[in-house]
Amino acid sequence: MAGAPLDILYRGPLASCNYACPYCPFAKRRDSRETLRRDAEQLARFVDWAGGQTQRSLGILFTPWGEALIRPAYRSAMAALSRMPHVRRVAAQTNLSWPTGWLDGCDPERVAFWCTFHPGETPLDRFLGRCAELDARGISYSVGIVGKREHFDALAALRQRLRPEIYLWVNAYRDEGATYYGPDELALLRAVDPLFDLNRTGIRSRGRACATGESVVSVDGDGEVRRCHVVPARIGNLYDPDFDAALKPRPCPLAQCRCHIGYAHMPHLGFRELFGPGLLERALPHPAATLNAGGATGPAGRARRSSSATQSATPSAAMRSTPS
Ligand code: SF4
Ligand code: SF4
Repeated sequence: MAGAPLDILYRGPLASCNYACPYCPFAKRRDSRETLRRDAEQLARFVDWAGGQTQRSLGILFTPWGEALIRPAYRSAMAALSRMPHVRRVAAQTNLSWPTGWLDGCDPERVAFWCTFHPGETPLDRFLGRCAELDARGISYSVGIVGKREHFDALAALRQRLRPEIYLWVNAYRDEGATYYGPDELALLRAVDPLFDLNRTGIRSRGRACATGESVVSVDGDGEVRRCHVVPARIGNLYDPDFDAALKPRPCPLAQCRCHIGYAHMPHLGFRELFGPGLLERALPHPAATLNAGGATGPAGRARRSSSATQSATPSAAMRSTPS
């Protein structure tokens, strides 16, 4: 392949969801018929564009504001993308609330999911049933939860009932400030997720290398490209024939990076090597081994040493770490 590999974080205008999680700033939002029509049209254009990129390897992660996979357009898009030989991965953040029959039309080797369990919205058994359907198809996925105190029982049950090979991540709950967790709670969360501290504290990122803007980009429904979801500066448009000229190394301009979608692409953390092909869906291949190695020398230890010790109480909407 002639072109350099590119990973795309796609987020169209769709912002509605069938759940109403109290910790989600977009809960209960409704999309108008016009918004859904425009979103589907823009998605179709993106899939067409991807189909023409046969000279490079593409990774795609759908990171919608709401739940995209309750919409047939996104299911068709993922199925079509997964069957394109040059698309090495097509993943989506999702609440896994949908029937799974459409997955039969996907290439199971290349479709993948970043799944979040929301205890107030769906029974654990139903969620685990969907995970079992992914397992039966050999599809890669991760499972996560928002680390609210009220979710700790669900977290324990998930860890007990998910296959040990499935990475169970915890997104730090930030709405109640930096002192929300006590020492015992931190120990509990670290025991489940070897990378929890990194998510809780974020990474001091200003001036550091980050692959976004070079081999990873954030794309909206109009094709407007930004380096990542939280740096607002536009760097070009995906549908511009000369777009590749905009891709170049850029140090991070922000003080802190606080979401896996972003810091996963900071080379000094080594996430590309650690996660391997599961990077986009956040699927750590050997979570137990990572946990055991998380002391002085392992990747989790490296990540911990790289994180700053600061934490702000209220993430911006764009930086929310509780997608779907
Ligand atoms: S905010 Fe994060 S993802 Fe964005 S440029 Fe900085 S380090 Fe990279
Ligand atoms: S957190 Fe996810 S599942 Fe919950 S309301 Fe928001 S978008 Fe929907």
